[in-house]
Amino acid sequence: DIFTRTDAVEPKIRSYITETRDLALAQAARVDEKIARGEALAPLAGIPGALKDNICTKGIKTTCASKILANFVPPYDATVVDRLAVQDAVITGKANCDEFAMGGSTENSGFFITRNPWDTERVPGGSSGGSASSVAAGEAIWALGSDTGGSIRQPAAYCGNVGLKPTYGRVSRYGLVAYASSLDQIGPITRDVTDSALVLNAIAGHDAKDSTSVNEAAPDYTKALVNDVKGLKIGLPKEYFAAGIQPEVAEAIDKAVKQLVAMGAEVKEVSLPHTEYALPAYYLIAPAEASSNLARYDGVGFGHRAEGTDIIDMYKKTRSEGFGPEVKRRIMLGTYALSSGYYDAYYLKALQVRTLVKQDFDKAFTEVDVLITPTAPTTAFKIGELSDPLAMYLQDICTIPINLAGLPGISLPCGFAHGLPVGMQIIGKPLAEATIIQAAYAFE
Ligand code: GLN
Repeated sequence: DIFTRTDAVEPKIRSYITETRDLALAQAARVDEKIARGEALAPLAGIPGALKDNICTKGIKTTCASKILANFVPPYDATVVDRLAVQDAVITGKANCDEFAMGGSTENSGFFITRNPWDTERVPGGSSGGSASSVAAGEAIWALGSDTGGSIRQPAAYCGNVGLKPTYGRVSRYGLVAYASSLDQIGPITRDVTDSALVLNAIAGHDAKDSTSVNEAAPDYTKALVNDVKGLKIGLPKEYFAAGIQPEVAEAIDKAVKQLVAMGAEVKEVSLPHTEYALPAYYLIAPAEASSNLARYDGVGFGHRAEGTDIIDMYKKTRSEGFGPEVKRRIMLGTYALSSGYYDAYYLKALQVRTLVKQDFDKAFTEVDVLITPTAPTTAFKIGELSDPLAMYLQDICTIPINLAGLPGISLPCGFAHGLPVGMQIIGKPLAEATIIQAAYAFE
């Protein structure tokens, strides 16, 4: 069973911050009772999966891989958790990640690193690294991650999984601990496209508890699981195949696109001219929102509290002790970008760039149905290899523009380079999850 497998691999991989075996067994027992009573079961009934540890679970520690929330137990479930419970899905545990989802390797976890099951000297990607490794190592059948700038798609690519970031607003963020609220989305990490559609079915749809939730019913995504790409117009944005992409990664994507063309898809080159400005804009907008969102960790309402001589001293010590270096870096960057006198020069400029990036996509989508790019410029890198934060930020170059534009994107395995999985990203129009699922399914 899944626990035997977890016992065997977890000491080496370390996907989980918290395992919830008792809960899993209780949930599984309820499914057994339903079976005994001859009741119909939902598609995910009894199927074990992991949740990234920034998704709130009632009565179960939710740490965001941060020391500041090391003992935080939420009094409520995130909407996605409620919806999975309705399906009788089984929760195996809370997966490791970069602290507050800030990072691309899970090395920024405040507790420990997670290893890539394909090569344990390498990172699983991030920030949803534990979610991806749990699925790749067979410790979970599905997992949820969150994606602000690539954190579902990039770890899925590095671990050989399918990772889907829905359109902004498609999945409720209620109960997802906020990193950058205008970019965050929850989505599935799975072994294949069919499972991705099943998990998305469970979690997608309007939620009155999230004011940014799209007020439109979600379709049945399993209807998109048809082996047909005839006439599908694929755009290859030339800016995504420029310098910095590992040649083996570009080759694998090229082969995959040829396969889709052989199946009847049409392909053309397109241009997204503002691509080079997306990364700097993201690294202003995301830290700005983060600095505001993380102001709540002050030692008063919840989480870690340090002893202080007065309240200001208590705030300072709590935050100095509780946050790790990357989180502090982002809070400082964001506070600076939002400070009076600099707002127009940095934050406002970044928002304007965001609009230009979005308009590039709008224009491309008048000519094509989907866009295909690498998910990340390289395969999984070695633990400790990208110690320079700027080098780490560059790993997000193919995924970040999609968050800025609020679009859906799926990463799926499309081959290997030096024995490591390569991820291909398929990007769709707003709310066109079904289209990217269909293209991914046909390719798979
Ligand atoms: N690596 C990016 C960052 O550090 C994306 C993280 C994410 O999507 N949560 O911000």
